[in-house]
Amino acid sequence: MTPPVMAAPPVSPAPADPATPTPAGAQQRPHGQGRPCVITRRAAFSASHRYWLPELSPEQNQARFGPCSLAPGHGHNYELIVAMGGGLDADGMVLNLSEVKHAIREQVSAQLDFRCLNDVWPEFDLQRPEGMLPTTEALALAIWRRLAPHLPLMGLRLHETDSLWADVLGDSMEAFLTIRTHFAAAHRLARPELSVEQNDAIYGKCARPHGHGHNYLLEVTVRGSIDPRSGMVCDLAALHRRVDELVVEPFDHTFLNKDVAHFATTVPTAENIALHIADLLSAPVAELGAALHKVRLQESPNNAAEVFAEVPQLGMRPQALEALAGA
Ligand SMILES: [Zn+2]
Ligand SMILES: [Zn+2]
Repeated sequence: MTPPVMAAPPVSPAPADPATPTPAGAQQRPHGQGRPCVITRRAAFSASHRYWLPELSPEQNQARFGPCSLAPGHGHNYELIVAMGGGLDADGMVLNLSEVKHAIREQVSAQLDFRCLNDVWPEFDLQRPEGMLPTTEALALAIWRRLAPHLPLMGLRLHETDSLWADVLGDSMEAFLTIRTHFAAAHRLARPELSVEQNDAIYGKCARPHGHGHNYLLEVTVRGSIDPRSGMVCDLAALHRRVDELVVEPFDHTFLNKDVAHFATTVPTAENIALHIADLLSAPVAELGAALHKVRLQESPNNAAEVFAEVPQLGMRPQALEALAGA
């Protein structure tokens, strides 16, 4: 599969190189005019949905979508982050923010807020053969298609909850889906072949002999093609199950160095734990029809490790998703 390609934003002609001395008397471009920049805007709406395919029996819907199939549906407080790019105008802005707010309200939030997604947009009318279930990733794509004629989109991130969100980077069926979970574990950072003094010099307090613990936050991002009917890049319930079975259950409430065989010989730094999780999940995610894109392990509010699991395909360069990460 190819790496995501960002749509090139329309960029006004660049001004003269700022390092070039301005000739005496020449007009200087004020306010950064022409220089490229990415801006983000957040919007929120509340909507309900139901996962129910008319071609399946009630039992099949229940088996496939679990409680998401229950009538009359359930709701979420969605949060949308819109990233837009372009050259600054003469007022020092990529876009006038009031126009951005207006476009997002008109095209998205005013249409969806307090509505049922299955009813409000024809994209999600499942009586139509081209109708799709209103999953997070399908909704992100539908929002992209509605906003793209109005705004120079770079990327969209749609949070369904704090622990589930989707990113789309263009008008294609490809989407990124991230789930967040957590586990608590103890570890000790020390290389067994080194002396206490040497380990102390390298790892400091983390080398203390009886270990210490963290509440780890784990984010798993998969990349895949949105199924035109189920609206899913992969079976979300199955993804949760695999992450629980392979990572959360074996790691939670353990002393990693002693209880997880891999860390008997590998120092369980956040980096090594994230790499091990990526190794554990790559093949199972592929079996679900998606690609493991990224594992992010946050050890404390102050440090996190990220592994781009598609290396060397995507290289170690954080891609466009990172433009949204701090939003
Ligand atoms: Zn839902
Ligand atoms: Zn630690």
